[in-house]
Amino acid sequence: MKKGLSRRVRDLKPSPTLAVNAKAKALRAKGVDLVNLSAGEPDFDTPEFIKEAACKAIEEGFTRYTPVPGIPELREAIAQKIKAHYGLSYTPDSVLVTSGGKQAIFNAVAALVEEEDEVIILSPYWVSYPPIVEICGGRPVVVNTSEEKGFEPSLSAVAEAVSPRTKMIIINSPSNPTGVVLSPEFLKGVAHLALEHDFYILTDDIYDLIRFDGRAPFNVVSLEPKVMDRTLIVNGVSKTYAMTGWRLGWLVGPEELVKAASRIQSQSTSNACSISQKAALAALLGPQDSLKEMVKVFRRRRDLMVSLLLEIPEISCLVPMGSFYMFPNFSAYYGRQAGGQVIDGSLAMADYLLEEARVACVPGVAFGEDTCIRLSFATSEEEIEKGITRIKEALAKLS
Ligand SMILES: *Cc1c(COP(=O)(O)O)cnc(C)c1O
Repeated sequence: MKKGLSRRVRDLKPSPTLAVNAKAKALRAKGVDLVNLSAGEPDFDTPEFIKEAACKAIEEGFTRYTPVPGIPELREAIAQKIKAHYGLSYTPDSVLVTSGGKQAIFNAVAALVEEEDEVIILSPYWVSYPPIVEICGGRPVVVNTSEEKGFEPSLSAVAEAVSPRTKMIIINSPSNPTGVVLSPEFLKGVAHLALEHDFYILTDDIYDLIRFDGRAPFNVVSLEPKVMDRTLIVNGVSKTYAMTGWRLGWLVGPEELVKAASRIQSQSTSNACSISQKAALAALLGPQDSLKEMVKVFRRRRDLMVSLLLEIPEISCLVPMGSFYMFPNFSAYYGRQAGGQVIDGSLAMADYLLEEARVACVPGVAFGEDTCIRLSFATSEEEIEKGITRIKEALAKLS
């Protein structure tokens, strides 16, 4: 007899997006001619000058522990960046450097949420929000929306989800998986609900500079500064500078909360990698041309993918305003079958597309929305053409 796993981990599943990506990579390694539209990261290489800054850090022996919340010059640069982009003034003490944006979210939730606390999450949501809340003992309260509503929930639906136990709402704009940028009216409405009912806001701004509307980024705090003392901002270098493997993100917010999140970090992972911190500093202070170029390329690919998708009968798709994902609706094909196998939802559809079309994509159910499939355009135009053509052919075989 052996004692079992903790309640915390018993029902915990590995991240489904990472799982699909791993499956796709494994098939490719076996020589299968696979089109991977499941990538959750830019397909670009980290810009050269950033890599050079990291090499320099190693050569100079910058290889020891740093202060837990990060090196002062990086915290300063992050505060400056938020000032430049959002017009918001934070001191470097309000900044915690973390091992990726995901850890920033985790530490923030761990610092605020306890047993029985409710956290409002807008569906379609990023896959990790509900499990992070659950690991911390909280209860995710999901607010649904739909494609017809532009994947922006109504404020009244959010208001209905609020209870005396509501501790926090998590918002993500531009969104993974939909690419939607939430409207200023909606964000202001959320801010007013938070003030009225006393809850916190976590805004995941990880895609704020990967946007195609040409507008400067905005978030709930820049629109309504009254929520500054109850809002935590999450961001990082993973997506913006093609640095997913470097594991470097940050949490910015009221000093007291950031200090609490930092205490959790000090007792778990300590500082983010010293070398990655130097690299991130270079990324923030250096030329932004590679980012601009990357956004331009993503925009071109987005336009291509949307136009090809809309040629497929009965598929609808919103044009993403940011990120590098789109979330087309495949539900018209549910209930049809191939070889006796009925496609009964996004999971079966994604499996069918992998088997029949040799295209990897992520089932919408992983994001709380079974009608859709997430397609990533963080891949070349040739792959996009090949992938969407194959999807079209595979769908035509369903009856
Ligand atoms: C990629 C991503 C993150 C964070 O990624 P890290 O690599 O941990 O920095 C956070 N939120 C969303 C929505 C993402 O897509």
